Amino acid sequence: MTLALNGVGAGKGVAIGKARILRRGYFDISHYSVPAHFLADEIARYRAATAAVKRRLESTRRQIPRDTPLDIFALVDVHLMMADDSAFVHDPVRLIEQHRCNAEWALQMQRETLVQAFHAMEDPYLRARADDVEHVARRILYELLNDRPETGPGDQLRDGVVLAEDLAPADAVLLQQHGVRALITEAGGATSHTAILARSLGVPTIVGLRHAVHYIRHDDVLIVDGEQGLVVVDPDARTLRHYQRRQLQERRVRAVLAKLTGKPAVTRDGVTVTLRANAELPEELQTARQSGADGIGLYRTEFLFLDRDDLPGEEEQFEVYLRVVRAMAGTPVTIRSVDLGADKEYAHYAADGGARTNPALGLRGIRRCLKDPAMLRAQLRAILRVSAHGPVQLCIPMLTGVDELLQVLVWVERMKQELDAAGLPFDRGLPVGAMIEVPAAALLADSFASRLDFLSIGTNDLVQYTLAADRLDEDVSYLYDPLHPAVLRLIDLTVQAGARQGVPVAMCGEMAADPRRTRLLLGLGLREFSMHPAMLLEVKQVVRRSELDIARRYARAALDAADVGEVAELVERLNGLP
Ligand code: PEP
Ligand code: MG
Repeated sequence: MTLALNGVGAGKGVAIGKARILRRGYFDISHYSVPAHFLADEIARYRAATAAVKRRLESTRRQIPRDTPLDIFALVDVHLMMADDSAFVHDPVRLIEQHRCNAEWALQMQRETLVQAFHAMEDPYLRARADDVEHVARRILYELLNDRPETGPGDQLRDGVVLAEDLAPADAVLLQQHGVRALITEAGGATSHTAILARSLGVPTIVGLRHAVHYIRHDDVLIVDGEQGLVVVDPDARTLRHYQRRQLQERRVRAVLAKLTGKPAVTRDGVTVTLRANAELPEELQTARQSGADGIGLYRTEFLFLDRDDLPGEEEQFEVYLRVVRAMAGTPVTIRSVDLGADKEYAHYAADGGARTNPALGLRGIRRCLKDPAMLRAQLRAILRVSAHGPVQLCIPMLTGVDELLQVLVWVERMKQELDAAGLPFDRGLPVGAMIEVPAAALLADSFASRLDFLSIGTNDLVQYTLAADRLDEDVSYLYDPLHPAVLRLIDLTVQAGARQGVPVAMCGEMAADPRRTRLLLGLGLREFSMHPAMLLEVKQVVRRSELDIARRYARAALDAADVGEVAELVERLNGLP
């Protein structure tokens, strides 16, 4: 039966493929047969993994402070008991022998059986124990994966549409590299990091499709409409034909846009607009170059820090940044100091006792760096050193006050002195700028601009902090709207401050990547946009069709609007003009 489900469209385009359902942490498990003479080794590998999990849990238990509520001890004890139970110790071994399969696959089969059994229980307490099964199984899996022979996700995902509860950004990259046609997640909002990345990779993606696993089965044919946030399950022949025609149209539009690649982004009244690319992975640089971007307006460095046990050192960072600078061949590269925390948490922070109830208001971005001098020092030195090899700018995330900014500037000066003393070259005039992504920073934009070389508006966070609507929480995604007049006024304040202080103001949040907002932003005075390269030509097309005088008039009216609805109406009228 055909079914239509609505989520939040995050990666544009239409994809058609068969559903591939993945459980969290299980996305890259492939099945492989183990020859009889290697079975003993495979079993030993599994046993070593369960033993390691037990050791780690025991050590965790020892580290819990004595005055911790007993519930916490009980939780670890439950996991310890499970890890020692024959359901995890013996049954998977039997499955390895029986199916002659790899340990990960046997574990996955056993986990499915256990989770289903717990879910079927009447008692709510026992039903909730399915989460503990997941937890223990995941721990064993991670031990196995650390020790596994080289395997990829296998071909079972190729050309499929992956449905998962949630995906880490790294998963999205891996899946794209393995030929997945589209991604669907039950969690997340349009500006979650994974959604941003999926867009930049050009993968049609729907996030926040709640309870999707209840409606979609493995192998169901799915249509994913990334524009509308729509998933059609098991489409009838007419619907399928309609979307196949849409795919064809999309290909034609892409061909028309491709012709704009070498052309300048100039408005009808002759004003040049700078279009740069956002990037975070070396894989994206080629797309950035091909799209004709005027350099990188935001290089997110969190990827160097995520999914690992240690911190990246100066040399490792230097090598990566050098690759970026070389790849961008003389065009400017804005490297942002690391913005860890909230939606970009690194794996071991939570384990260190860093989990907070309100991480978006916690120790993230520059706050975290200022508390961790070793981290800040290594990164600033690496960025400064790479500035000797091409035009580099440093951008600081999450600043809320001038005092924080001054601390950072002192750090930059100190690092320059260190490099001088060591005889290492760097750009003495390295431009330093700030992300304006907290209302406090927008309100103080004059003070920031007078001390800096550029400002860059990060609407992903500015919207969340202005409207008190978590960018990752699909329950409040209806409130999360960059067209809110309060957001527009903060953008306006920032642009005006930049103009007064003679400092360029860019925008690098997702709003800059949305061609439906381009005319409004031009009207507000923005002349520099940075976005995932997949959107660059569409935005350029709008720039080339826009007249600033008209855009300015509509933007002024939008600033006076009372609510989102009024702004949306104005923007629709503005966009409807030839
Ligand atoms: C933003 O907040 O708009 C931004 C560009 O930064 P990030 O999405 O990495 O938080
Ligand atoms: Mg941000």
